[in-house]
Amino acid sequence: MSGARSLLRFDGRVAIVTGAGRGIGRDYALLLASRGAKVVVNDLGVDLTGLGKNSKPVDEVVQTIKSFGGIAVPNYDSVEDGEKVIKTAIDNFGRIDILVNNAGIIRDKSFSRISDLDWDLVHKVHLRGSFMCTRAAWPYMKQQKYGRIIMTSSTSGLYGNFGQSNYSAAKLGLVGFMNTLALEGQKYNVFCNTIVPAALSRLTQGLIPEEVGEIFKPEYIAPVVCYMCHENCTENGVVIESAGGWAAKVRLQKSGGVAMRKAENTFSIEDVQSNWDAITDMTCNPLYHTSASEATAHTVKLILEKLNDSS
Ligand code: NAD
Repeated sequence: MSGARSLLRFDGRVAIVTGAGRGIGRDYALLLASRGAKVVVNDLGVDLTGLGKNSKPVDEVVQTIKSFGGIAVPNYDSVEDGEKVIKTAIDNFGRIDILVNNAGIIRDKSFSRISDLDWDLVHKVHLRGSFMCTRAAWPYMKQQKYGRIIMTSSTSGLYGNFGQSNYSAAKLGLVGFMNTLALEGQKYNVFCNTIVPAALSRLTQGLIPEEVGEIFKPEYIAPVVCYMCHENCTENGVVIESAGGWAAKVRLQKSGGVAMRKAENTFSIEDVQSNWDAITDMTCNPLYHTSASEATAHTVKLILEKLNDSS
């Protein structure tokens, strides 16, 4: 029938969702499995701050997937043991096509009260955990010339949030990590993108008002992430912010900039002061670049134009 949309399915694909025992990751695992993916449901079962251990959340999700005829296996390791997480997919299903790095904790403190442990644990789970799982999956994806990897960032990383200096740093670190993986994976058809979700979960209890809980359900993020994991999605290296069935692309922007040094002049602190308003003016020809080389080429062009300007 004309206009009918075919269902996007994941038959033959093997997916790992980390931190899938509850919250947003649970809905990713359920949706992927309901569309035919074989899913490794990973979760350490920790509390919000990364302490403790519990196998029940994973077992519940695996059981739910099996109850509707889906295929899933449990993995109870920490994402810091990425090799073990990926091995579960290889041992059970022989391959790994999709990795959603989703596991997360928070240890919120104002910056003056933050301890080494608050900083290190948050970085270990988000940044190092995503690194360890991705590094273990990478050779399989590269060899089979197919892979879809998702990093999970946060508005706290993109825009900052009081009491989350540790979390913000780790979450924006994941965007930098993605930027380079996108370049290195491109020729192998291994694409890496980032989701910036907002949904009511135990992580956001008290932060997202209960009255908007209905429109901020975790299940409304899942279609966005699952599309980003599908073979039809050839996007690579983008950041997508999403909540409540809404999604938008986020990118870095810079001002038009000012080349200040003329050939015959010295360049001083005072030159910077007198140009500061123009340097920081985002209303006049703001720019964004899609690669570091493009950014550098643009800067060099402006510098040379200024040096050659005899007026
Ligand atoms: P959640 O607490 O409901 O779920 C996170 C899961 O990760 C938990 O089940 C936990 O046991 C698991 N986990 C923690 N450490 C682990 C480890 N070392 N190894 C394996 N599993 C581990 O939280 P959520 O809201 O579903 O968050 C999911 C992801 O989305 C996190 O990365 C979070 O930072 C990110 N995020 C969430 C929101 C939001 O609005 N909920 C906003 C921005 C970013």
